[in-house]
Amino acid sequence: MTSCSPRRTTRLCSVSESGPQSLPDELAARAHARCLDACRKFDSSLEFDLEPRAVRVWWTDTFENHSEDLAVRIRDALSAMQETPQGCLAILSAGEPERVHWRGYRQKVYQLVAWGLQGALPTRRSVVRHLCHNKLCIHPEHLRIGTQAQNLFDQRQRRAGVGHIYEGL
Ligand SMILES: [Zn+2]
Repeated sequence: MTSCSPRRTTRLCSVSESGPQSLPDELAARAHARCLDACRKFDSSLEFDLEPRAVRVWWTDTFENHSEDLAVRIRDALSAMQETPQGCLAILSAGEPERVHWRGYRQKVYQLVAWGLQGALPTRRSVVRHLCHNKLCIHPEHLRIGTQAQNLFDQRQRRAGVGHIYEGL
């Protein structure tokens, strides 16, 4: 039912396309592998038991028991995005960040991508930063786990008209 280009991995066969691999698909494939790797490396014994507890229980269960499903969700979310002129991946018509409801927990898709690829548990003090200042964007390289203070710094940079600040890229 799907058309697979011979040079493509079977992993991407569910993505309908016939031409060369698009940026979203390329990133999606890489993110899928990275997520599985992050889930494999996740070790809950190394994590401090910080609040919010329900979120951390959910993520621990996700990393340990739903890694393939998580990786597929992240891959499919990235594949569905459009590349903006700034290099972001977003649904351009969306007014606010897309959300996903999965296994009884509702969160923004960029949070699912960021934490899922990080393989770490969210804490009350941690936030997902958008280095591109585009809240609609779920490009893995534009997302960083950081502190609320860093997030406020990002917002000031955005207001000051400072463009993309991809640290260490
Ligand atoms: Zn971006």
